[in-house]
Amino acid sequence: MVAQSLINYNTFGIDARALSVRSVWSTNHLLSMLKEDIYPFRILGGGSNILITQDLPYHILRNEIKGLEITEENDEQLIVKVGAGEVWHQLVMWTLSHNLGGLENLSLIPGSVGAAPMQNIGAYGVEQDSCFVSLEAVHIETGIKRFLIKKNAVSVTGKVYSSIV
Ligand SMILES: Cc1cc2nc3c(=O)[nH]c(=O)nc-3n(C[C@H](O)[C@H](O)[C@H](O)COP(=O)(O)OP(=O)(O)OC[C@H]3O[C@@H](n4cnc5c(N)ncnc54)[C@H](O)[C@@H]3O)c2cc1C
Repeated sequence: MVAQSLINYNTFGIDARALSVRSVWSTNHLLSMLKEDIYPFRILGGGSNILITQDLPYHILRNEIKGLEITEENDEQLIVKVGAGEVWHQLVMWTLSHNLGGLENLSLIPGSVGAAPMQNIGAYGVEQDSCFVSLEAVHIETGIKRFLIKKNAVSVTGKVYSSIV
């Protein structure tokens, strides 16, 4: 039975329904959910790059993994680890408030940090890939956690970040 409205979970405000909408609070939470009866499901971030045209026969897992920490800093680069459920624009504002260049052209792009590497968001000639280092991902069919690292991952400005999906 498609029971729960998605009206608050997509920026078009389309009142389609899904089986349920559940929040994911951490990678371990997701791993434990994968052992439950949540199939079939789809992942959703801010819902700004989807157009829902009908009710969805899926459970919707909303990524609400939060957190932002500097994990490495030296004269050459600074690495920030960011939860996939953080709002992308807030990450950009955080970098600017800490005098970190690199993401400023990508301000005001709607959506979540976790979706950014999936979409490789870009604006004004800059793509998120230029500052991206790595991400932690969960394979949704096998439940295996993986760490995916981009080769030669240093931006021209020397500022880099990673996200947890
Ligand atoms: C007004 C407006 C302006 C925009 N401007 C730009 C722009 O300038 N540049 C640009 O590149 N884009 C732009 N976009 C597109 C949008 O902002 C990006 O695609 C953004 O990355 C979507 O993020 P989201 O969290 O809303 O993704 P959602 O819409 O929630 O999801 C999009 C897709 O990504 C998948 N996904 C989401 N999160 C995860 C995750 N953690 N792990 C795995 N899969 C995931 C979903 O399953 C879905 O398939 C714009 C959109 C709007 C509405």
